[in-house]
Amino acid sequence: MTKSLCVYCSSSDRLDEKYYVAADILGKHMVARGWSLVYGGGHTGLMGRLSRAVKAHGGRVVGVIPEFMKEKELAFDKADEMITVTTMRERKLAMETRADAFLALPGGWGTLEEILEVITLRQLDVLRKPCVLLNQEGFYDDLLHLFERMIAEHFAKPSSRQLFSVARAPEEALDLIEGAPTVAETKWFETR
Ligand code: AMP
Repeated sequence: MTKSLCVYCSSSDRLDEKYYVAADILGKHMVARGWSLVYGGGHTGLMGRLSRAVKAHGGRVVGVIPEFMKEKELAFDKADEMITVTTMRERKLAMETRADAFLALPGGWGTLEEILEVITLRQLDVLRKPCVLLNQEGFYDDLLHLFERMIAEHFAKPSSRQLFSVARAPEEALDLIEGAPTVAETKWFETR
């Protein structure tokens, strides 16, 4: 059965081309390795590029989009399934429920909010699904430094390093997801 990877990523159309290329590569490898895409359903930015790449390689795309974004015509029209919800909260829940694993590519406020919710839910043991940050060219280095400070100053436990893993490239992200144990308590972490 196809596994569903929930990918959070930028909606911006003004990024350096290297970020779009990474989304293309991820889409290609996801399909080759039997992953379908669950994502925010948009056609802009890395979201649009990734969803088009998954479709181009014959994969399955499921979008979850709030009605107000659909009305603004932000929805990707080639998705195999487009789930329409009312609020951003419902959207996150639908994405979390559908996914077998989570991956954040570089992104802005929306991406950070979504992936940090997953990390928080993993901390609470509400979610046990693998969670990876794609730290393309050190994009997330400053955030990872903040996480280390949180641990050093006891805002977070050292064991919270096990709540997510960090990849440098799309294929490595899939390796980490596929190699992750299904429970959060085991020794699965890599902070850089
Ligand atoms: P950001 O990282 O701020 O660009 O936001 C990207 C994330 O927020 C995505 O994972 C989406 O879930 C959501 N999002 C933000 N803007 C849009 C949009 N125009 N269309 C669809 N989803 C969006």
